[in-house]
Amino acid sequence: MAQTDAPPLTGLPPLTLLIAAPRGFCAGVDRAIRIVELAIERYGAPVYVRHEIVHNKFVVDDLRARGAVFVKELDEVPDGVPVVFSAHGVPKAVPAKAAERGLDYLDATCPLVSKVHRQAERHVANHRHILFIGHAGHPEVIGTFGQVEPGQITLIESAEQAETIVPPPGGELAYLTQTTLSVDDTAEIVAILERRFPHIQRPIGEDICYATSNRQAAVKEIASHADAVLVIGAPNSSNSVRLVEVAEREGVRARLIARASDIELEWLAGVRRLGITAGASAPEILVREVVDFLRAHFEVVEEPVQGVEERIVFKLPRGLEAA
Ligand code: SF4
Repeated sequence: MAQTDAPPLTGLPPLTLLIAAPRGFCAGVDRAIRIVELAIERYGAPVYVRHEIVHNKFVVDDLRARGAVFVKELDEVPDGVPVVFSAHGVPKAVPAKAAERGLDYLDATCPLVSKVHRQAERHVANHRHILFIGHAGHPEVIGTFGQVEPGQITLIESAEQAETIVPPPGGELAYLTQTTLSVDDTAEIVAILERRFPHIQRPIGEDICYATSNRQAAVKEIASHADAVLVIGAPNSSNSVRLVEVAEREGVRARLIARASDIELEWLAGVRRLGITAGASAPEILVREVVDFLRAHFEVVEEPVQGVEERIVFKLPRGLEAA
């Protein structure tokens, strides 16, 4: 239960906050939010957005207050209003349907997800069956599967499935992955696939994106020096959930919180070094909110832990830059 009004704890040693970097927004999330903001400026409210633009309630609520209307499917978008597709990507049929209806649409799919889409198309054009490592039901997986025909791609969610999968006979094989997976789990699955199918085609570069890898490396680093770790992010944010798992594997307690009001002080009993990080869709304002909350209850020492420096910025869709 939330305890924002609990009295400050006194007489305790200081709580050291190991604050991971990089954390929070990635270039793809930043770009997707900017696309919605610019679309509202350019077209005026309402601007429809198919699916949560990124998996974070705070971000979605903020954009909603500024004139965005979030819907699950294109059918819910009235004729004559602009629509934005989320950072996770959409099946090919969605922009095709929007064009058929004459809707103005803006595609906020992260360029790194689009890269996976293009690879899927190329494999199919080269008659390769795709083994796709990912989580069933995640919008990114639905979007990538929607780039090809159902019989051309098979989902693999676990090492067990990688051991038992029977691909269609005859043709060549390739594997691709969701961008926000656990680096370690995926390496295990890939090792199994490469052992079983030595000629399987690897992705061009890594499909797990730079932001996911960097945040996992950063949380590993803080977890190895912390008594517990808080990850700020949404339960439906794949990369945030992975951060909790990575921290737990380092042998510490870890918890996913949406924001400061989710912190339970009892959970922090005995913790003197607390790791803090945020998933790729969680804004920095929520990290500051958590630090301020802790400062209200403990004597706090902030210790930033810098990992890889990120300088990646993605271009906006053509035409929107000048808005
Ligand atoms: Fe793009 Fe990676 Fe961010 Fe997803 S987590 S939006 S793939 S940069």
